[in-house]
Amino acid sequence: MRQRIAVIGGGPGGLTFARVLHRHGYPATVLEREPAPDARPPGGTLDLQEGLGQRALDKAGLLTEFRALSRPEGQAMRILDPDGTVLRDWQPRPDDEANPEIDRGQLRDLLLGELDVQWGRAVTHVVPGTPDGALVHFADGRQEAFDLVVGADGAWSRTRPAVSPATPHYTGVTAIETSLDDVDTRHPDLSRLIGDGSLAVYGVNRALVAQRNSGGHVKVYAQFRAPLDWHANLDLTDAEAVRASLLALFDGWAAPVLDLVRHGTAFVHRPLYVLPVNHAWTHVPGVTLLGDAAHLMPPLGAGANLAMLEGAELAESIAIGAGDDLDETVRAFEEQMWARAGRWSQITTAGLERLVSPDPAEAIAVFDRVQPS
Ligand SMILES: Cc1cc2nc3c(=O)[nH]c(=O)nc-3n(C[C@H](O)[C@H](O)[C@H](O)COP(=O)(O)OP(=O)(O)OC[C@H]3O[C@@H](n4cnc5c(N)ncnc54)[C@H](O)[C@@H]3O)c2cc1C
Repeated sequence: MRQRIAVIGGGPGGLTFARVLHRHGYPATVLEREPAPDARPPGGTLDLQEGLGQRALDKAGLLTEFRALSRPEGQAMRILDPDGTVLRDWQPRPDDEANPEIDRGQLRDLLLGELDVQWGRAVTHVVPGTPDGALVHFADGRQEAFDLVVGADGAWSRTRPAVSPATPHYTGVTAIETSLDDVDTRHPDLSRLIGDGSLAVYGVNRALVAQRNSGGHVKVYAQFRAPLDWHANLDLTDAEAVRASLLALFDGWAAPVLDLVRHGTAFVHRPLYVLPVNHAWTHVPGVTLLGDAAHLMPPLGAGANLAMLEGAELAESIAIGAGDDLDETVRAFEEQMWARAGRWSQITTAGLERLVSPDPAEAIAVFDRVQPS
């Protein structure tokens, strides 16, 4: 008899897991809290690396479709000094497919395909080891049992407590996200400043990063070191007040750079949280985690890539090893995930320290190490 497998969360990790299982003719129940795919704005752009996210898409049979949608030109990266001087300006080679960008919404639709997701199914908690298997409890009071529950439910995972007491902690860095629409027509100067990919400006303990998405949409992230309660006297729902507060925080920076904030339309508060580096747990039969639920780390281009590759690898080993002991398959997957994610959480944690640091030269050094000269 086939095993009853559920994945909680229809983000990049959960959908890749379900999609790869589906490709092997193996069903999985996808349980997603949101009522519909487009219930919330999908967020910004993701760069998918050749050996990680793209490998996962290959396992899902979606690499060709990804190449048709993604933006290799989005790998361009420009770094400015707060006074507006261009310090670095990297352009990708025409054939460079190492890290192309894709909008999150496009990636979600690509992964969704024909998958049968159960929308509006918010999970409250998971109880492993009942006589009927791992029991998933829902916000509407219902419950359902499975042989394997995969928690791909992100930073504030409701699955995680079934295997680990760890909770995310604040990094000391906060981001405020804002957006520019129709940048090419409405803000041509900013469009030229940003270029085809990303623009980053590093100052003392703060940074402004702008990333071009498709369709002339740009996401801007103001990042700064601050205590968690930095906004005690600020109404975060008052866009004008948040804008004024950011302009004060970045006071003295060049006017064209500050225009990224001045023309921003809405402001979303995103304090950056992480799980402990090398987070792991004692294996619990019937429940596992992947992606941010397992190893939330600073958002420096690895999280979605890892979540997708983990989803693909776990699905592939379940499908190919069908008939093997499911629990042993999951154990082996966890060992592999912990080792790789541990390395990435060290890299990204050190990266965040240097990118939002007292010495802006540290930030540029990070890019000089990874970008071809
Ligand atoms: C600003 C920013 C930029 C980033 N850029 C990149 C990048 O370029 N490249 C990269 O690799 N990573 C990037 N990341 C990190 C990346 O977004 C995450 O690591 C990735 O989304 C994790 O995928 P996931 O599937 O594990 O979790 P998520 O994407 O968080 O998905 C979790 C899903 O679970 C659902 N869910 C949550 N709780 C429940 C519940 N109780 N019941 C049912 N469903 C639930 C959610 O609705 C969601 O659909 C960035 C992050 C940020 C914040």
